[in-house]
Amino acid sequence: ENEMEFRPTKAVIDLQAIQQNVRNLTAYLPRETAVIAVVKADGYGHGEVEVAKAAIKAGASMVAVATPDEAVRLKEGGVTSDVLVMGPSPVLFAKKAIDLGIHVTVTDAEWIRQATRVVDEFVKPLNVHVKIDTGMGRIGVRTADALQEVVQVLNSSDVVKLVGAFTHFACADEDDSLTTKRQFDKFMELVENFPERPSIVHAANSAATFLYPDYALDAVRFGISLYGIAPSAYVGSRLPFTLQRAFCLETELAYVKQVEKGNRISYGGTYETLEDEWIGTIPIGYADGLKRGLRGQEVLIAGERMPIVGTICMDQCMVKLPREMHVGEKVTLIGKQADEEITMEEWAERLGTIPYEIAVTISKRVQRVYG
Ligand code: PLP
Repeated sequence: ENEMEFRPTKAVIDLQAIQQNVRNLTAYLPRETAVIAVVKADGYGHGEVEVAKAAIKAGASMVAVATPDEAVRLKEGGVTSDVLVMGPSPVLFAKKAIDLGIHVTVTDAEWIRQATRVVDEFVKPLNVHVKIDTGMGRIGVRTADALQEVVQVLNSSDVVKLVGAFTHFACADEDDSLTTKRQFDKFMELVENFPERPSIVHAANSAATFLYPDYALDAVRFGISLYGIAPSAYVGSRLPFTLQRAFCLETELAYVKQVEKGNRISYGGTYETLEDEWIGTIPIGYADGLKRGLRGQEVLIAGERMPIVGTICMDQCMVKLPREMHVGEKVTLIGKQADEEITMEEWAERLGTIPYEIAVTISKRVQRVYG
């Protein structure tokens, strides 16, 4: 079903790993806690529809995305579970959300008033989750008064139906349980303002899921670790079960040559051969998400590490080979070969960022292949 492309550069996605992560999570969570699989940003680069379907099959009860358009793509791609848009949606999205059965996030009373006006004819309700800002400082209701107003408007709307309430932790991946506890306590206190507890009250991201099982509530919103990646090194050393990584980035040697000592390689002549060297060229560059700052990063060929040398070009880059190697030889940029493994964390460290950003930086041009 995967249409084969001619360029050998591809991301190989292990959907079984994602399913194993969901099953291990379900076994770890309290029985009453559901799994919301977070598949925003194209499933953290793994493929939104494929990941959503795999996660649901493995037992997730719902999927969540950041934007209304992501939710529409999931529904049109055949995802039948509930889909929650966690970020803001324009009021004009309300009709589409009702048609497709998408849950949206509301952050203030005015949005509900306007949505109620926009949707004049309806057969089904607009399902909403109220976002409560307990310290993230991004979106959401921040005070009991503002929440009271939301509750009043909800009561008087015959279109909008409250199904959930949620908050998001700012520091759950750090050694800072006090900040997370304060956020949780504030959330519980504000949720008291609803005359009836909404049916899905949720707070935990991956980090909080692992570190604070007491905050699991009705559901956890499990994102980065669905893909087998720890949210931070701090959480990584405290995991209650082993995560299975789902993402490999691979290509093949496209060109191999021997270069005499003292020759320069790539734009700006940024690498000079120190001796007679074998240099391989691989068809992946910064337009694929192999950022220019990854010069010097190693890749795996024949189970060995060898460095990218010279400036990374838009579509290609060069690798210093330890000896003559053959065109077509498999090159792993992220993933395992023999006893060696290169992780997104390794790239992230080199680039001064977090593995989340690496996952979503591998561009659309890199074909996704599902194993
Ligand atoms: N909930 C919200 C509101 C988010 O924005 C995110 C993503 O950052 C998540 C849950 C999932 O977080 P994580 O990927 O750290 O599990």
